[in-house]
Amino acid sequence: MTKYFEVLRRDGPARMGKLLFGGQISTPALISKDDYVSAGSVYSYASIQDAINSGEALRDQEKLAILPYVPAALHSEPALEMPPLDLSGPKGIMVHPFSEKNPENADVYVLGNSGALKNPRDLVAAVVGVRERIAPDAALYAPAIATPANLALLVYLGIDLLDGTRVLADGLFGRYHTRDGVWSGEDLVGPADLANLPCRCHSCRKIADEGIKKELLIAHNLLKLEEELLTVRQAIRSETMREYVERQVRVSPEQTTALRLLDGEHRYLERRTPQTRRSKFYANCSESLQRVEVTRFAERVIGRYRAPESDVLLLLPCSAKKPYSLSRSHRLFAEAIGGRRRYLHELILTSPLALVPRELEEAYPAASYDVPVTGHWDREERAWLLGCLEAYLKKNRYARIVAHLEGDLEETVKESGIEAEFTGGGTSGPALDRLSAAVAEACRDARRLPDLRLLRYRAHADFYFGYAASSVLLQGKIIVKGREIQDEHKKPLAATTPSGMIALSLAGAGRLQALGKYIVKIGDFLPKGSLLAPGVVDADDQIRPGDEVIIAGEKAFGVGRAKMSGWEMKASRRGVAAEIRHIKGKQ
Ligand SMILES: [Zn+2]
Repeated sequence: MTKYFEVLRRDGPARMGKLLFGGQISTPALISKDDYVSAGSVYSYASIQDAINSGEALRDQEKLAILPYVPAALHSEPALEMPPLDLSGPKGIMVHPFSEKNPENADVYVLGNSGALKNPRDLVAAVVGVRERIAPDAALYAPAIATPANLALLVYLGIDLLDGTRVLADGLFGRYHTRDGVWSGEDLVGPADLANLPCRCHSCRKIADEGIKKELLIAHNLLKLEEELLTVRQAIRSETMREYVERQVRVSPEQTTALRLLDGEHRYLERRTPQTRRSKFYANCSESLQRVEVTRFAERVIGRYRAPESDVLLLLPCSAKKPYSLSRSHRLFAEAIGGRRRYLHELILTSPLALVPRELEEAYPAASYDVPVTGHWDREERAWLLGCLEAYLKKNRYARIVAHLEGDLEETVKESGIEAEFTGGGTSGPALDRLSAAVAEACRDARRLPDLRLLRYRAHADFYFGYAASSVLLQGKIIVKGREIQDEHKKPLAATTPSGMIALSLAGAGRLQALGKYIVKIGDFLPKGSLLAPGVVDADDQIRPGDEVIIAGEKAFGVGRAKMSGWEMKASRRGVAAEIRHIKGKQ
């Protein structure tokens, strides 16, 4: 826990924050020697007592003070341990990437040997390991590793502070950095052709005139690093960091490996991935299939959601336009189905989300994803889809299935051996006639389903608050009015938001409170506007940024939107835990 660092925004493990000392530094940032004082390695002192004394001398520093540290090889424990020391100002501690020990409390942790983390396996294990051992509101500094090409990946891993050491040193060796990688200045273009350098910065113009000089390479390298930092900050701000990293890691196989290894650290990513994003979700590459949003959506559809009791299941393909219902193809399907829509349940098959029940088409990211469409389903996509479909059908049973699918998708479902009436799919007149006929046949003697609007609320309640939430929230007589549901006395319980979330009223939260889920327990006070992390006594571990939460304390009861994960609320000393929408005092 720290009072000198505050995380303001999160996009997966990447964060934006501010360091609250010296002149405020906005993170992610490139820092330099001007921003901190460091006692350096203990081996640079004549005796261990001298090293301890140099730490003591930093006690009242206003700047970030990095205490004396014991260097060690990458995979070994340091030979000595330094006694802990409390400072009045911001404290920095060197932490060894693969040490088994938990580091003492600090505001900034310096990743030891970070410049030596060349192997992607080491890099991912080091950052993930250290991040999991330090407080979420402490900053992590990795010296001498950043380049314009790897900066996005480093920030996405969870590093807050970097520096220009590496590109500066590279400049001394004649190396020229861009976002696309590093070249020997001499090799990049012929010496007679320096005007063709792929950059138009002041230094590169000078190189064209005066030839390659170390100071010009250094100035160019540092500028490219700063530009990349601004790009990364913009990506976090616009909540498109994952998309940017998936693109940027293509510059080298090592970086792509690192992203894939990070995706293997599912728990680390899941605990840091928000429930919703403002941005569109692009599933452009094979790594996109591993994204937390994809696995989370599928887990919820299979684990939390329960399909309405229906005799007939209709399988449909997705559409480019979202939500699907607004697309031309889905409007045509709806016309072809006509009044039989009340006698069947619709499930949309899509990549990479696999299954989207009609009622959840507005939930994140079902309403805001985009994927390159070729009509071809590769083996990985097919396996993922069928795995999900089989799990779904084990839980939700139907007497008859109609599959209005075509091409690869139809073939995939046919090959799985699922028994269904296959219509061949399509939106032409004869295709829609076949859909119409198949549905008419399947719906003969079928049960009538409840109103689709009501089913949407049921599905959303279970999807966001867990299995059984719908039976509590929608107990008794429910009136559906526009985007809102009310109880029998016309008291609002919940509404769906344009972003596909559910927003609870105090009455709705009162009903759900009994389940004990998504609750933020607060101390003995009545918060207004924003609930700050120090006020949180306890919080449900499954809360993620963007989740609707119930705020409960001795003097207050309310609802709001989480700004950080539940585990982070408990472990942080600064920052907004949740934005409050409604709150009332309790006697
Ligand atoms: Zn340049």
